[in-house]
Amino acid sequence: MTDCVFCAIVDDEIPSHTVYEDDAVLAFLDANPLAPGHTLVVPKAHHERLNDLPADRASRVFAAVHALVPAVEEAVDADATTVGFNNGTAAGQEVPHVHAHVVPRFDGDGGGPIHAAMGTRPDLSDEELADVAASIGERASVDR
Ligand code: 5GP
Ligand code: ZN
Repeated sequence: MTDCVFCAIVDDEIPSHTVYEDDAVLAFLDANPLAPGHTLVVPKAHHERLNDLPADRASRVFAAVHALVPAVEEAVDADATTVGFNNGTAAGQEVPHVHAHVVPRFDGDGGGPIHAAMGTRPDLSDEELADVAASIGERASVDR
């Protein structure tokens, strides 16, 4: 048996409530949901972080997320969804197998935006913003 819990779910060694499956992607309900319908979308292949996920597999994960968002919202009559990845342990990732969270949201549910996940915010000058934008831009190449 694999020691990755999501690989074990993909391999049917651990049961889960599957909501969608194709050759590259599995989506199933979170065992400790933040809301009814909280769904996890994973590549079937084991990759720890988005940074490690090949572009073609990333596209397949995003295509599934895109299709599942309206399905999840309609199934539980949600007003919206929060969609995100905890990408790395410093960001709160506990299961080291890439997964998107699709969390149904309801008007007045008491939750916050993704911004609420952060602590204090930096106060960056225009120059610092320009530097960091250039630095990211130099490194970003999108495989299509
Ligand atoms: P993370 O913090 O890594 O982004 O989130 C991991 C998520 O996986 C958590 O929301 C947790 O409830 C869920 N989870 C952990 N173990 C299992 C499991 O065995 N089955 C299912 N369905 N979800 C799990
Ligand atoms: Zn895995």
